[in-house]
Amino acid sequence: MQRTGKVWVRDVVAAAALGVAIAAVAIIGHAPQSTVVHPTASASLTQGAQYLAELRTRFHRPFGESRSTTALRADALQALYLARVESGVGSPFHAVEAALRDPWLPDSIRANLASAMLANVLMIAPTAVGEYALDKFAAALIDSVVRSHSEPRRGEEVVRIGFELAAASGAVSRSEAGVAADVAALARDAVYARRDVARLVTAAHSGGLAPLELLPLWREERRFDVERPIVYPIEWASSRELVAHATRLFELLDARAGKAEGAIVDSVPLRVLVADFAVRHSARQVARDRNAPPSPAIAQVTPTPAPAHLTSATNEEELAAVWLSLTSLQLTERTSWARAVAAAGVRLRTNAQERVWFAGDHAPKASEVQQRHGLSAITLASSIRPSWREYALLSLDRALVDARRVLPDLDLRGLRIHVGLKAEWPARAMALHDPESRTIYFPLGTAPGVLAHELGHDLDWQVARTVFGEQGIYATDGTARRASPILAAPVERLTSASALSGLAPTRHTLNARPTEILARHVDWIIAAALANMGRSNGFLSTVQDAGDALGNTSAPEHAQIDAAVSVLASATKVPHRTVVSVHRGVAPGAGRDPLVRHVVDRALAVNLRMPWHRWATSAVDVLGNASATFRQAGDPRFARSCVAASARAAGEPDWIGDVQALVAEARTRDVIRRLQQFPPRRPLARDPAGRGGLATGPVDPALRARATAVLRREIEWQLAAATSTPLVQASAVPSCPK
Ligand SMILES: [Zn+2]
Repeated sequence: MQRTGKVWVRDVVAAAALGVAIAAVAIIGHAPQSTVVHPTASASLTQGAQYLAELRTRFHRPFGESRSTTALRADALQALYLARVESGVGSPFHAVEAALRDPWLPDSIRANLASAMLANVLMIAPTAVGEYALDKFAAALIDSVVRSHSEPRRGEEVVRIGFELAAASGAVSRSEAGVAADVAALARDAVYARRDVARLVTAAHSGGLAPLELLPLWREERRFDVERPIVYPIEWASSRELVAHATRLFELLDARAGKAEGAIVDSVPLRVLVADFAVRHSARQVARDRNAPPSPAIAQVTPTPAPAHLTSATNEEELAAVWLSLTSLQLTERTSWARAVAAAGVRLRTNAQERVWFAGDHAPKASEVQQRHGLSAITLASSIRPSWREYALLSLDRALVDARRVLPDLDLRGLRIHVGLKAEWPARAMALHDPESRTIYFPLGTAPGVLAHELGHDLDWQVARTVFGEQGIYATDGTARRASPILAAPVERLTSASALSGLAPTRHTLNARPTEILARHVDWIIAAALANMGRSNGFLSTVQDAGDALGNTSAPEHAQIDAAVSVLASATKVPHRTVVSVHRGVAPGAGRDPLVRHVVDRALAVNLRMPWHRWATSAVDVLGNASATFRQAGDPRFARSCVAASARAAGEPDWIGDVQALVAEARTRDVIRRLQQFPPRRPLARDPAGRGGLATGPVDPALRARATAVLRREIEWQLAAATSTPLVQASAVPSCPK
């Protein structure tokens, strides 16, 4: 541990000696559009880099110098702030602004620490989390893919799709693919943050300000890219290009599978942020003592039960403390905590614009918030700490202000909000709208992030009151909706979305009750409309492109957005310009290609019907029977050509066929991997020519190739039959079977 600590410190010192200007230039190499840091402007960063190196040197020994309790706590706080930047948990600029104002930090070190954090943004290896959460190879690969695109979101999407395909082929596990997506999102934000620092420093220089003076203003004006909301999928000039990139990554991961064992062993990360035990211990203590308000984004992803010597993390500071101690954990614990750090970093993205808040900062009184928003009452559970009450009221107030930016006529008269649980709390509920008492129950530990959703239920409640004159029910539910022709049609449209729509009721993870579907749409519409204004509010909504806390993973379809808007119409007006703005960026639309990721997901979701599962006694039998049971065709390209002809007839873009062939290839490799992993006990091939083609051991390569081709063709056919609607109509294409 000591050795690795030294390596890290040496790197940082070297970087500092060379000057930050070099780091900035290196970044600009990846980012043609970004501003070049003026050499004089970078002087302030060089100072920060020097202080950073100083801190690293001080922290790097397992048993550091003896210090007074006060000095030790100051060091622990500094380590926590650096950890927040390095781990990618929360916006780095939020953390820098917090450091500048932190009442627990001595005045004399605030500015130095903040400069060191800015310098750290330029110098951190964004792969750090990835190395712990996956392995060195995967972390470096993800990082290089993300950075190879001038818009890092494109690289992120390549990683998502490439790893998904690799999971389909069995080259990586499903959970690894999920972690890779999180790590790619962190790598994306690391790119944004570095460019942001370069822009900030340059702008500060030309304006005659210090970067740290300008930083809070830029946060207020929402000028940092790393804090901008990401709700819509990134545009590609050509879907074909994305498919090509994803294919290359998939092939690379697939080729590496099986050879990865050796790599996992030497994947012990080299980086140790803080080796000093006293600092680590004190950091946990400080995080506990400070007891910042809980963040559901963190509490929901951290492992349970937590290792005995660590409290489970419920806020950013506690998670940063775990990050500092990561190397002291067993390998499996370390991996699961690193994965939690990555997941939390992604979830916290919607909180990036949150204002810095410390206990004691000004907050409105409950009565003020109540009056301002026309609420009937705001109550807080007596168990909530006083400082958390202030935080809750302030956040609630801002969230409702943000909701009104989207729904300016939102009328909340008569609604009660109780910050806390209800007696008889339903298991796994994060928050609750009670239609009988018209109360939103909003426990601070789980509810922040789902306020927009609960407001959606309240709007549903209001529609019932307006349309039926009834109180205590939801308009979209059962009998009520059927009684009203003006509601029946849009609710029907809302609830009959295709499985591809992210908010569709057909997705098994989601509740199919109409009021839940409406609430999910209200949540999405509010988040998307705010995003179009460059805003996000993590207290209001967790919606983002990568998915939200409620299990939605993609945008709704156009028809559903309109249906939701017309259901809401009798409770509140959604301004026309808002409707237009949220439609923009939603794919697939009229005349637009579907998203590559949707085509991939759909092909991956098809259940393959494999004849041998039913009656073959062995895998080899698969082959023996293949020619009898799989589709008969003399031409091995039979299925592909038929699918392509059908797609052309239906005017489908031709890359869709390529994606299906790619998914078929991945799934074929998966079947072969499984057969090799669990070889049959009694080979009983009926077709001697196919004997052993798919089994383990030395096999005639020609036989194996033939067996694989038969299998691939069958899978390709099944995917096309299950996913391409035009295939049915195109059964008139001569070469296609009926
Ligand atoms: Zn709900």
